[in-house]
Amino acid sequence: RPESHPTPKSTLISSDIKHIIAVASGKGGVGKSTVAANLACALYKKGLVVGLCDCDIYGPSISMMFGTTESPQITPDERLIPVEQYGLKLMSMGFLLEADQPAVLRGPLVTRYTQEFLKNVEWGNLDFLVLDLPPGTGDIQLTIVQTVRLSGAVIVTTPQEVALVDARKAVSMFKKVNVPILGIIENMSYFICPTDNKKYDLFGCGGGKREAEKQNVPFLGEIPIEAELRISSDHGLPIVLSEPDRKTSQVFLEAAQKI
Ligand code: ADP
Repeated sequence: RPESHPTPKSTLISSDIKHIIAVASGKGGVGKSTVAANLACALYKKGLVVGLCDCDIYGPSISMMFGTTESPQITPDERLIPVEQYGLKLMSMGFLLEADQPAVLRGPLVTRYTQEFLKNVEWGNLDFLVLDLPPGTGDIQLTIVQTVRLSGAVIVTTPQEVALVDARKAVSMFKKVNVPILGIIENMSYFICPTDNKKYDLFGCGGGKREAEKQNVPFLGEIPIEAELRISSDHGLPIVLSEPDRKTSQVFLEAAQKI
């Protein structure tokens, strides 16, 4: 095959994986990685075999959220073996960088590097592979969604208009390449003040649900802003695993039922 041919859909990631889903956001900082990590844990708690892949070379965070600094083993034919943590298989571009080392690559190289990386992971049999995409709807995201046989995409937004505008772009990117939208999940939906138990809509109210209705896609739930969620991520144990009975964890578990 001449080198200029596009990679056929089925070769980028092995066919031993039943479903590959992307977690995407148009805008950075909306909690995409937090959602990807907890959704993957929620799928795992359903009894499924789950892999989670952090595809963001500029800000890989999955390794930190799962409290591991282990490097992936490399097979003799130079394939990467995912790191296992809490029963999930993890791979992150962060595993390949030294701590504190920035990823210094220009755009086209990042795209090639990411594709190369995705091709070379030895996932084995999986029910679900969750891809934590880099934020945005640029070249790199488009390349991934065009070359991986995705079963669907979950879009993360906050209720704020600036995030919704970008979530809309993400929805249309997936629609353009015929990837079904599994739903929109809203993060940082509200804050319950621990001192007076009052609910505060810090970033507005209901934007994610309204957007889902407008786009005619499922709405997967509202995740509150809470210190416990942030702390569990920082401590390397996603909240769905550390406190499965918590209301926030229940939102992730219910979302996993819907996808
Ligand atoms: P993104 O992947 O969109 O850049 P992250 O998932 O890395 O966003 O989240 C950014 C920061 O916000 C992290 O420090 C994370 O722990 C925190 N965070 C995300 N969602 C929440 C939430 N609902 N409540 C509290 N902190 C959150």
